[in-house]
Amino acid sequence: MTATTPHRIFLSDLHLDDATSPAFQTFVRCLHAEQERVDEIYLLGDLVEAWVGDDENTAWADVLRETLYTVGRSADVYLMHGNRDFLIGKAFCEQTGVTLLDEIVQLDDGTLLCHGDQLCTDDVAYQTLRKQLRGAEWKTDFLHKPLSERQQIANAMRTESQTAQANKADNIMDASEEAIDALMRRYSASLLIHGHTHRPGSYRLQSLSANRQRIVLGSWENCGWLCRQNHGPGRKMARDSVSLECFSLAHRYEI
Ligand code: MN
Repeated sequence: MTATTPHRIFLSDLHLDDATSPAFQTFVRCLHAEQERVDEIYLLGDLVEAWVGDDENTAWADVLRETLYTVGRSADVYLMHGNRDFLIGKAFCEQTGVTLLDEIVQLDDGTLLCHGDQLCTDDVAYQTLRKQLRGAEWKTDFLHKPLSERQQIANAMRTESQTAQANKADNIMDASEEAIDALMRRYSASLLIHGHTHRPGSYRLQSLSANRQRIVLGSWENCGWLCRQNHGPGRKMARDSVSLECFSLAHRYEI
């Protein structure tokens, strides 16, 4: 790796919906601190609890827009859709200066990124719903409804999803080993970073060619999580340069 390889951080599953919450305030402080340290910031989905369209006019949405815009003046900010914010669109990106990524991205050092919900292939009901919601027809129809109606529908869908999750076995909602293996092989990737499952950790994949690593970001419930990638001397492989960090939301990122 050359000295010019950018320093990056990866975050996901912040589920922001209230500018006064510890998660929101820590997120703002975290980005302001990190914008001085890193070149690129990757938000890998579920940045917000729900997003019903770029005309979202709640106070916290404005704080979010301002924060991203300010941070974007010092670091490049990239955003990937999660299952809760897949309606973040062009207008939001223009207002904030963030770059919207495809649902699977491979960085120049081989690191593979995705939100992670597409890996939960054992959850057949969810994958069916995902396909429907990501379709152009559903999106167009939904976005043509008045904002208040969209907000009501989103609330109802969240309640429905919570009920469905409560009735599902835990392992069904985790990323499938087969799906992970297939994806990493397809891209010849040795490192995959994703979120969604709320099962943070660094996982070694033992299968076949081995030496594959998967870092799962945590959701910002009791603490904040980020994955840091610093390329330095002697760190030749993408997977040698990453670390998963966890910090208290109570201290508002005062480090
Ligand atoms: Mn998710």
